[in-house]
Amino acid sequence: MTSAKPSTIRTRFAPSPTGYLHIGGARTALFSWAFARHHGGQFVLRIEDTDLERSTPEAVQAILDGMAWLDLDHDEGPFYQMQRMDRYREVIGELLDKGLAYKCYASPEELDAMREEQRARGEKPRYDGRWRPAPGKTLPDVPAGVDPVIRFCNPTEGSVAWDDLVKGRIEISNAEMDDLIIARPDGTPTYNFCVVVDDWDMGITHVIRGDDHVNNTPRQINILRALGAEVPQYAHLSMILGDDGQKLSKRHGAVSVTQYHDDGYLPEAVINYLARLGWSHGDDEVFSREQFIDWFDLTNITPSAAQFNTEKLNWLNGLYIKQSSDAALAADVSSRLARRQVNPEDGPSLDALMGLYKDRVATLNELADAVEAFYVDVHPAQDLLDKHVTDEARAALRDLCEAFRSIEWVKESLSAAIKEAMKSHGLKMPQVAIPLRVLLVGQPQTPSIDAVLEAMGRDRVLARLTPYLA
Ligand code: GLU
Repeated sequence: MTSAKPSTIRTRFAPSPTGYLHIGGARTALFSWAFARHHGGQFVLRIEDTDLERSTPEAVQAILDGMAWLDLDHDEGPFYQMQRMDRYREVIGELLDKGLAYKCYASPEELDAMREEQRARGEKPRYDGRWRPAPGKTLPDVPAGVDPVIRFCNPTEGSVAWDDLVKGRIEISNAEMDDLIIARPDGTPTYNFCVVVDDWDMGITHVIRGDDHVNNTPRQINILRALGAEVPQYAHLSMILGDDGQKLSKRHGAVSVTQYHDDGYLPEAVINYLARLGWSHGDDEVFSREQFIDWFDLTNITPSAAQFNTEKLNWLNGLYIKQSSDAALAADVSSRLARRQVNPEDGPSLDALMGLYKDRVATLNELADAVEAFYVDVHPAQDLLDKHVTDEARAALRDLCEAFRSIEWVKESLSAAIKEAMKSHGLKMPQVAIPLRVLLVGQPQTPSIDAVLEAMGRDRVLARLTPYLA
């Protein structure tokens, strides 16, 4: 049998395309990717699409889109298991030839009866090896017209043990395992078998995956050994719980990673956030992708479950937004505004508004919300008008508008004009600034009012104030 002898670290991400790439899958992908990158190895993408009922091309695309958005680039693949059927059949043939697998003709009814009897005897139900060849053993007569399944000859003695890189040593007695079906009656290989052949052929050195696969590992190791393959190292990642300590739900995390894009998260922030779900580097909370690759190893992964924390994700996202350039933010927010049929083209400079608002928001959608008012007609709520746009304020704003018509449109002069109006009308800053905010953007709170005025521009400011001052 062939065997790709690996010389460097090779990891893989092997999603089943039965849904989108969610937070758990993305974290598995991230850790597998980062481990390969840290060691200068290769990261393989493999699509495990043998479940024909549940796999869809849309899910494949959603996974590829999610990986692309997070910029988790692969060196090889995507390989599709459905395109490797001949190879699995070939290996099954070799196992049969070597007596490491056998045909089992037991009918489903017969197996049900067998399990019933085992239960009645108080035993754990398991295949009893009735079709497994052994020296001196007489097998039942092959029934006519029955397509057999193929079963792997699991070792009957001893145990399988591995030093899980996250969970520590795990040992399972072979007596616990029966002879796994590796091919169905129609000859199609089963899930665990495809994984084994793939990990072998693809020279995978480190299998990093969710701990829902721990139970598959001893079976996979036994088959790998039977094939004479090098057994990879395993790192089983603990699950991610929701904010509430329960299983991840749609409200947090169990949604597609691309939903985070739609909701206004930056991929860098999501990567930074995911990295800390079960892995740590001292007390570091904020780090770049490069630092993560530099620091990442399997030694600092916690075996306990990680808990999703939306507040922390929002905090990190806000931080990454604040650190982004105004131009990059403007490009993103411009497309968010376009989706709302808002065109920032012939309005105030979006770059300038990014600079004004970026340290006040947690998401790009909040940023779009904040600046949208600069480009659309604003209709301040009546209660805000009643509360803030008082007669005294109006008198001051009228004078202010006079000044606005002729002064140089820069923060310094705008600020001086506001102070002048305050002084001559005996008002305090909020008594002028808040009515201005309400009339200009419909909100009593904004960044500093002179900066808002400057960004909005003279014509737009006058057009928004004048109707309320008559
Ligand atoms: N296809 C499996 C899944 O999506 C992963 C198998 C593996 O990593 O070995 O859960």
